[in-house]
Amino acid sequence: MVRAAVLSAPGESLRVTDLDLPAPGPGQVRVRIAATGVCHSDLSLAKGILRQAMPVVLGHESAGTVVSVGEGVTRTAPGDRVVLCWAPPDGTCWFCQQGEPWLCENSSNAASAPYATVDGQDVYPGLSTGGFAEETVVSEQAVLPVPAAVPLEHAALVGCAVMTGVGAVLNTAKVREGQSVLVVGLGGVGLSVVQGARLAGAGKVIVVDRSPEKLELAMSMGGTEALEAGGELAKQVRSLTEKRGADHAFDCVGLADTIRSSWSATRRGGVTTIVGIGGKDQQVTFSALELFHFARVVQGCVYGNTDPMTDIPRILDHAAAGRLDLGALISGTVGLTGIDGAFADMGAGKGARVLVVP
Ligand SMILES: [Zn+2]
Ligand SMILES: [Zn+2]
Repeated sequence: MVRAAVLSAPGESLRVTDLDLPAPGPGQVRVRIAATGVCHSDLSLAKGILRQAMPVVLGHESAGTVVSVGEGVTRTAPGDRVVLCWAPPDGTCWFCQQGEPWLCENSSNAASAPYATVDGQDVYPGLSTGGFAEETVVSEQAVLPVPAAVPLEHAALVGCAVMTGVGAVLNTAKVREGQSVLVVGLGGVGLSVVQGARLAGAGKVIVVDRSPEKLELAMSMGGTEALEAGGELAKQVRSLTEKRGADHAFDCVGLADTIRSSWSATRRGGVTTIVGIGGKDQQVTFSALELFHFARVVQGCVYGNTDPMTDIPRILDHAAAGRLDLGALISGTVGLTGIDGAFADMGAGKGARVLVVP
């Protein structure tokens, strides 16, 4: 038995209870969780905005130590320090064959199969990971080694937010040295975009949020100008970019309004990358003439267009060398009983990344 925070149905509170976690099967590994970041997708899953089989143990941004392995496991061994990847590509589907493993058709299969029980009832691993628990069981493809120089609490964030944010800058947008960057929304992912922009050698990095506290944090991580949300964004950004608009915008919110204003704040031919996950009700409108005239690009970005197998080790190397400051992204630590509170703060736009230490 291990302690876990279980969600029975969308909209309910999490219940901390005993989870009956079986020994790892062939190709599986059991991991003792050191820390799991609370991601905005967990909140969307908990509210039912994103779909997930239930009852579920949410949490998909984890790192820990391998405690046991199933038959045939070769990639890892007990005692290894690992980060968990919630979307391990299979390497064989059509998308993987095209070199687009972030769109793998089978990377989320484990989320729809029960992996444990509570009082005899099947429970599912949230986004294939089940990180809000003392231990979990995942496929061996879902664990990658963490270098000794990186604490597991920091490595956890690489599993989702950092991979997504830094990947959006380096892989999706391919920001070049000296280019101007606009980042709207400064949660864990937005702040990772800011650090990614610094890593890419961007010129101006204009950061936008409604929280002065998050703006200050972003300025300490590579932001060069801060704008409190609510003003006329396009006008403000043009005045900071020789009247042209930004070369790149990153929407890390996912609302029609923020996407539209990010797009309007880019220059002619500028690129807007949609990193935040929005709802079906968010309709963004453009006139045909402006789409033609401004020749701007809007692109989606899933998991930072990364191949986790090569990109997670690369990101961890950046962290080990001090080029990424993962510790600065952590704004608080809670136990399993504190997750509902972390969700409430996240909904209110407070804090950066909260870590759950089970
Ligand atoms: Zn996430
Ligand atoms: Zn695939």
